[in-house]
Amino acid sequence: MDKEIVNSMLPNTKYIWCLHCNQVDMKTGWLHNYGYCPYEKCNGTILDALAWTKIQKENPTYPKIPEYDWIYPMYG
Ligand SMILES: [Zn+2]
Repeated sequence: MDKEIVNSMLPNTKYIWCLHCNQVDMKTGWLHNYGYCPYEKCNGTILDALAWTKIQKENPTYPKIPEYDWIYPMYG
């Protein structure tokens, strides 16, 4: 998929949480991976990409700046 299209489809946030593996990476990571989850063992797609700000709002105990390689359940 074209990177510009991927960019417009991904949430417009710095960090993106993956519905598939429940881990976070930067939007740039998703972009460089053509809209797929950057985590090696995950096959999450652009449809699994949610704004970290949204997940963090649902779970106020989660940090504003998330850790890499850390699993954040949707409802922690
Ligand atoms: Zn993932």
